[in-house]
Amino acid sequence: MSIQKTLSLIKPDAVAKNVTGSINAKLEQAGLRIIAQKRLRLTKEQAEEFYKVHSDKAFYRSLCEFMSSGPIIAQVLCGEDAVAKNRQTMGATNPMNAEIGTIRRDFGESIEHNAVHGSDSPENAAIEIAFFFSSLEIIE
Ligand code: ADP
Ligand code: MG
Repeated sequence: MSIQKTLSLIKPDAVAKNVTGSINAKLEQAGLRIIAQKRLRLTKEQAEEFYKVHSDKAFYRSLCEFMSSGPIIAQVLCGEDAVAKNRQTMGATNPMNAEIGTIRRDFGESIEHNAVHGSDSPENAAIEIAFFFSSLEIIE
Protein backbone atom coordinates (compact mmCIF):
# COMPACT_ATOMS: atom_id res chain seq x y z
CA MET A 1 0.00 0.00 0.00
CA SER A 2 1.19 3.46 -0.83
CA ILE A 3 -0.10 6.93 -1.66
CA GLN A 4 -0.95 6.93 -5.37
CA LYS A 5 -2.55 9.17 -7.96
CA THR A 6 -5.02 7.95 -10.57
CA LEU A 7 -6.99 9.45 -13.44
CA SER A 8 -10.78 9.52 -13.23
CA LEU A 9 -13.16 10.62 -15.98
CA ILE A 10 -16.84 11.31 -15.46
CA LYS A 11 -18.19 10.29 -18.87
CA PRO A 12 -20.69 12.21 -21.05
CA ASP A 13 -23.68 10.11 -19.88
CA ALA A 14 -23.14 11.01 -16.21
CA VAL A 15 -22.37 14.68 -16.94
CA ALA A 16 -25.61 14.87 -18.98
CA LYS A 17 -27.53 13.35 -16.04
CA ASN A 18 -26.11 16.06 -13.73
CA VAL A 19 -24.78 13.55 -11.19
CA THR A 20 -21.14 14.72 -11.02
CA GLY A 21 -21.56 15.90 -7.44
CA SER A 22 -23.05 12.57 -6.37
CA ILE A 23 -20.13 10.76 -8.02
CA ASN A 24 -17.61 13.04 -6.32
CA ALA A 25 -19.30 12.33 -2.97
CA LYS A 26 -18.79 8.57 -3.47
CA LEU A 27 -15.12 9.14 -4.35
CA GLU A 28 -14.60 11.27 -1.23
CA GLN A 29 -16.49 8.82 0.99
CA ALA A 30 -14.10 6.13 -0.25
CA GLY A 31 -11.17 8.19 1.03
CA LEU A 32 -10.04 9.56 -2.32
CA ARG A 33 -9.10 13.25 -2.62
CA ILE A 34 -9.85 15.16 -5.84
CA ILE A 35 -6.62 17.14 -6.28
CA ALA A 36 -7.34 18.36 -9.85
CA GLN A 37 -10.55 18.62 -11.83
CA LYS A 38 -11.75 20.21 -15.07
CA ARG A 39 -14.63 20.04 -17.54
CA LEU A 40 -13.77 19.62 -21.20
CA ARG A 41 -14.97 18.00 -24.40
CA LEU A 42 -12.74 15.57 -26.28
CA THR A 43 -12.58 15.62 -30.06
CA LYS A 44 -13.11 12.24 -31.71
CA GLU A 45 -9.38 12.19 -32.50
CA GLN A 46 -8.48 12.82 -28.85
CA ALA A 47 -10.84 10.04 -27.72
CA GLU A 48 -9.23 7.69 -30.27
CA GLU A 49 -5.79 8.56 -28.90
CA PHE A 50 -6.86 8.10 -25.27
CA TYR A 51 -8.48 4.70 -25.96
CA LYS A 52 -5.94 3.45 -28.55
CA VAL A 53 -5.24 0.29 -26.49
CA HIS A 54 -8.77 -0.74 -27.46
CA SER A 55 -8.40 0.05 -31.19
CA ASP A 56 -8.76 -3.64 -32.14
CA LYS A 57 -12.03 -4.07 -30.23
CA ALA A 58 -15.46 -4.17 -31.86
CA PHE A 59 -16.69 -1.39 -29.56
CA TYR A 60 -13.80 1.04 -30.26
CA ARG A 61 -15.56 3.27 -32.84
CA SER A 62 -18.73 3.49 -30.81
CA LEU A 63 -16.77 4.16 -27.60
CA CYS A 64 -14.83 7.03 -29.21
CA GLU A 65 -18.06 8.53 -30.64
CA PHE A 66 -19.62 8.33 -27.19
CA MET A 67 -16.63 9.79 -25.35
CA SER A 68 -16.57 12.79 -27.72
CA SER A 69 -20.37 13.26 -27.72
CA GLY A 70 -20.46 15.79 -24.87
CA PRO A 71 -18.55 17.30 -21.97
CA ILE A 72 -16.67 15.15 -19.49
CA ILE A 73 -15.02 15.86 -16.14
CA ALA A 74 -11.34 14.87 -15.89
CA GLN A 75 -9.99 14.42 -12.38
CA VAL A 76 -6.83 13.41 -10.58
CA LEU A 77 -7.58 11.38 -7.44
CA CYS A 78 -5.02 10.91 -4.69
CA GLY A 79 -4.95 8.57 -1.72
CA GLU A 80 -3.80 5.31 -0.20
CA ASP A 81 -3.89 2.64 -2.92
CA ALA A 82 -5.83 5.12 -5.11
CA VAL A 83 -5.77 3.06 -8.34
CA ALA A 84 -7.43 -0.02 -6.82
CA LYS A 85 -9.61 2.01 -4.46
CA ASN A 86 -11.05 3.99 -7.37
CA ARG A 87 -11.67 0.80 -9.38
CA GLN A 88 -13.56 -0.67 -6.39
CA THR A 89 -15.59 2.51 -5.99
CA MET A 90 -16.42 2.53 -9.73
CA GLY A 91 -17.60 -1.09 -9.85
CA ALA A 92 -17.48 -3.58 -12.73
CA THR A 93 -17.37 -2.39 -16.36
CA ASN A 94 -20.93 -3.61 -16.94
CA PRO A 95 -23.22 -1.75 -14.48
CA MET A 96 -25.44 -4.86 -14.33
CA ASN A 97 -22.54 -6.78 -12.78
CA ALA A 98 -21.38 -3.95 -10.51
CA GLU A 99 -21.82 -4.24 -6.75
CA ILE A 100 -24.63 -2.32 -5.07
CA GLY A 101 -23.51 1.17 -4.04
CA THR A 102 -20.80 1.47 -6.68
CA ILE A 103 -20.78 4.42 -9.08
CA ARG A 104 -21.48 2.30 -12.15
CA ARG A 105 -24.29 0.38 -10.46
CA ASP A 106 -25.98 3.60 -9.36
CA PHE A 107 -25.33 5.81 -12.40
CA GLY A 108 -24.27 3.62 -15.37
CA GLU A 109 -26.72 2.94 -18.21
CA SER A 110 -24.96 0.14 -20.11
CA ILE A 111 -21.60 -1.56 -20.56
CA GLU A 112 -20.57 1.37 -22.81
CA HIS A 113 -22.37 4.25 -21.09
CA ASN A 114 -20.98 3.34 -17.68
CA ALA A 115 -20.54 6.77 -16.04
CA VAL A 116 -16.81 6.73 -15.21
CA HIS A 117 -13.32 5.77 -16.35
CA GLY A 118 -10.48 4.90 -13.95
CA SER A 119 -6.85 4.03 -14.63
CA ASP A 120 -6.07 0.32 -14.24
CA SER A 121 -2.45 0.54 -12.97
CA PRO A 122 -0.08 3.14 -11.49
CA GLU A 123 1.90 3.09 -14.77
CA ASN A 124 -1.19 3.81 -16.88
CA ALA A 125 -2.34 6.38 -14.32
CA ALA A 126 0.84 8.42 -14.91
CA ILE A 127 0.33 8.29 -18.69
CA GLU A 128 -3.37 9.13 -18.46
CA ILE A 129 -2.89 12.00 -15.98
CA ALA A 130 -0.30 13.52 -18.34
CA PHE A 131 -2.83 13.24 -21.20
CA PHE A 132 -5.20 15.64 -19.41
CA PHE A 133 -3.15 17.70 -16.93
CA SER A 134 0.12 19.59 -16.74
CA SER A 135 2.21 19.29 -13.56
CA LEU A 136 1.29 22.94 -12.79
CA GLU A 137 -2.37 21.93 -12.43
CA ILE A 138 -1.79 19.24 -9.80
CA ILE A 139 -1.53 20.59 -6.27
CA GLU A 140 -0.95 17.82 -3.71
P1 ADP B 1 -12.94 -0.41 -17.79
O1 ADP B 1 -13.44 0.98 -18.15
O2 ADP B 1 -13.78 -1.06 -16.74
O3 ADP B 1 -11.47 -0.43 -17.50
P2 ADP B 1 -12.29 -1.53 -20.41
O4 ADP B 1 -10.95 -0.87 -20.26
O5 ADP B 1 -12.33 -2.97 -20.75
O6 ADP B 1 -13.19 -1.31 -19.10
O7 ADP B 1 -13.13 -0.78 -21.54
C1 ADP B 1 -13.05 0.62 -21.71
C2 ADP B 1 -14.45 1.16 -21.92
O8 ADP B 1 -14.96 0.64 -23.14
C3 ADP B 1 -15.48 0.73 -20.87
O9 ADP B 1 -15.46 1.53 -19.70
C4 ADP B 1 -16.78 0.88 -21.64
O10 ADP B 1 -17.20 2.26 -21.72
C5 ADP B 1 -16.37 0.42 -23.03
N1 ADP B 1 -16.62 -1.02 -23.22
C6 ADP B 1 -15.94 -2.06 -22.67
N2 ADP B 1 -16.44 -3.24 -23.08
C7 ADP B 1 -17.46 -2.95 -23.92
C8 ADP B 1 -18.37 -3.72 -24.69
N3 ADP B 1 -18.34 -5.06 -24.66
N4 ADP B 1 -19.28 -3.07 -25.44
C9 ADP B 1 -19.35 -1.72 -25.48
N5 ADP B 1 -18.49 -0.92 -24.79
C10 ADP B 1 -17.57 -1.52 -24.02
MG1 MG C 1 -9.88 0.06 -18.75
